[in-house]
Amino acid sequence: MAIERTLSIIKPDGVEKGIIGKIIGRFEEKGLKPVAIRLTQLSKAEAEGFYAVHKARPFFADLVKFMTSGPVVLMVLEGENAVARNREIMGATDPKKADAGTIRKDFATDIEKNTVHGSDSVENAKIEVSYFFPEVQVHAYEWKKLA
Ligand code: UDP
Repeated sequence: MAIERTLSIIKPDGVEKGIIGKIIGRFEEKGLKPVAIRLTQLSKAEAEGFYAVHKARPFFADLVKFMTSGPVVLMVLEGENAVARNREIMGATDPKKADAGTIRKDFATDIEKNTVHGSDSVENAKIEVSYFFPEVQVHAYEWKKLA
């Protein structure tokens, strides 16, 4: 399996609920290593650019409003099959349809305030990582995890 990088965002509802640590803990426990992390508040232009693919969708304006409503945590996660693995750990877009044990099932409010974002393909992951992180802000390291 390939070592990949993917973009993860803890959305404003996740930050507000005080579960940044719990979410990052799940990624670390399941083999996804944070190699870049930044807490920030997105501007309207940044959120619109990031979600440009959804521009024509009816939920776009509300989504941009939500994503700029408070701080978010931007992360690059690295690991085997990281793009698909992150999507598994996150669960389905609609938390009502998410599998048990996923972040969205356990923490999300609704289909909009669904706690986390994760790139949906290896190609998009490259675009999304570079949208927020220049290569110099991504730091590889080896794990010497406790047993
Ligand atoms: N979204 C929404 N209403 C919808 C579908 C999506 O508000 O009916 C929001 C939700 O926050 C979602 C984001 O738009 O995470 C991007 O949608 P996408 O279909 O790409 O889902 P994801 O890849 O995040 O699971």
